[in-house]
Amino acid sequence: METTLRGVGVSHGVAIGEVRHMGTAVLEPPAKQIPAEDAEREQGRARQAVEAVAADLTARGNLAGGEAQAVLEAQAMMAQDPELIADVDRRIAVGSTAERAVYDAFAAYRELLAGAGEYLAGRVADLDDVRNRIVARLLGVPMPGVPDSDEPYVLVARDLAPADTALLDPTLVLGFVTEEGGPTSHSAILARALGVPAVVALPGAGELAEGTVIAVDGSTGDIFVNPSDEKKAELETAAAERKAALSASTGPGATADGHKVPLLANVGGPADVPAAVEAGAEGVGLFRTEFLFLDDSKNAPTEEKQVEAYRQVLEAFPEGRVVVRVLDAGADKPLDFLTPSDEPNPALGVRGLRTLLDHPEVLRTQLTALAKAAEGLPVYLEVMAPMVADRADARAFADACREAGLRAKFGAMVEIPSAALRARSILQEVEFLSLGTNDLAQYTFAADRQVGAVSRLQDPWQPALLDLVALSAEGAKAEGKSCGVCGEAASDPLLACVLTGLGVTSLSMGAASIPYVRATLAKYTLAQCERAAAAARAADSAEEAREAAQAVLSGE
Ligand code: PEP
Ligand code: MG
Repeated sequence: METTLRGVGVSHGVAIGEVRHMGTAVLEPPAKQIPAEDAEREQGRARQAVEAVAADLTARGNLAGGEAQAVLEAQAMMAQDPELIADVDRRIAVGSTAERAVYDAFAAYRELLAGAGEYLAGRVADLDDVRNRIVARLLGVPMPGVPDSDEPYVLVARDLAPADTALLDPTLVLGFVTEEGGPTSHSAILARALGVPAVVALPGAGELAEGTVIAVDGSTGDIFVNPSDEKKAELETAAAERKAALSASTGPGATADGHKVPLLANVGGPADVPAAVEAGAEGVGLFRTEFLFLDDSKNAPTEEKQVEAYRQVLEAFPEGRVVVRVLDAGADKPLDFLTPSDEPNPALGVRGLRTLLDHPEVLRTQLTALAKAAEGLPVYLEVMAPMVADRADARAFADACREAGLRAKFGAMVEIPSAALRARSILQEVEFLSLGTNDLAQYTFAADRQVGAVSRLQDPWQPALLDLVALSAEGAKAEGKSCGVCGEAASDPLLACVLTGLGVTSLSMGAASIPYVRATLAKYTLAQCERAAAAARAADSAEEAREAAQAVLSGE
């Protein structure tokens, strides 16, 4: 019998296929005692397993490149954490087997992390994955991860670890569904980068029986279990129509009546550039430079290394616009040498621009590297700061850019409600705004972006979030300046029309979403987008806002 479930659609497209669950290793090795003379051998086994898993994660990262690489390398470092290894050694010395010692040491570390603040909710899944890999290797059982199958399937998991999403084969994995995660979690961002349809935050996903046929609509978040032939045909037709519309639409982003809305790409480094170029990105709207910093948790990358990475991205868009975001460390992206370790609530602590103002030498090196990278290139360089709270923040950032001799436009990200409320004041100091709707939603609704249980509040269709977008765009217009969106909201084609109607001047997203947004935007006039925006803002919930905008655009 056909049933329908509803999660949160985070990556467009329709996938129809059989459920395959993510493999999990035997997770709890028995607690048996070993004789003292075996301890040294067991310690050797544990070390070997740790090294092999770290090497495997690093190799997967090298293969994947881009944002995925940084995440996998961070996991490789977790595996080799000296304190964890010392704890494993200690446990073996008092009689544990290697696998049990690893299991218990990670459990202790996990507890420490879980009690240490919010951002670690996201890190715990990564840590569990590292533990499972080491334990599986020691037990000689298959690695947890993507199922072994020659037939295409829909992957279902509690949460997807970056190590798995990074290497998903899009020809075998038709789509994926997870029980945890929100629209702005790492898994969702990586799914979009891969271009596979995905639905997250689906309660009970783990109970879908292996082999059941499901249809996943990554645009609406609907999952049809045992879909009827009519439903399959309906979804396939809709997907084929979408695909045809996609290939028919090329060129710069614009509404049906020619109102231009540049479509830009979000990148994490040079490895993401080819997909952006192929998708027809008109430039880069968000270069997340922190991924360059995650390689080494103890030091910033050298100026030379930064110049090289920035230059590779800048060179890919001659005559195009490249918006580089300076380092956004802290909260869900902590760096040992910059991020305070004792904050009770890291998302509300020293992160983003606050970190850089506390470490002006790091900001100076980054800005100098950018100035050098742009030298002699015909690119429109724009540089922006994350987590700007007020005019003083914006001024401090603009001063630092001027002092570094940077010839570029300086801008501020709007990620904190105060920045949206006082957009005009901030624009006295900088030349453009870019809305980071992921964090803006997190702070507007007091809802951690890593936590699946509050994903309802992370929905960028929330009218309160749309109000803040409108305030920012209106402020920028009044100052004769631009206001783009570079958060995940820009990658939802319908919402992209609404954002355009709210007065947003450019949209930046993962490369895979660009064709969808371009095709949808081209169907409607600016006046229709404005009417849809007004209808969405008049609604009382995200769902009603989406329906109201859809009704206006489809002329109901
Ligand atoms: C955002 O917060 O919307 C954003 C674009 O930045 P990040 O997702 O990297 O925090
Ligand atoms: Mg942000």
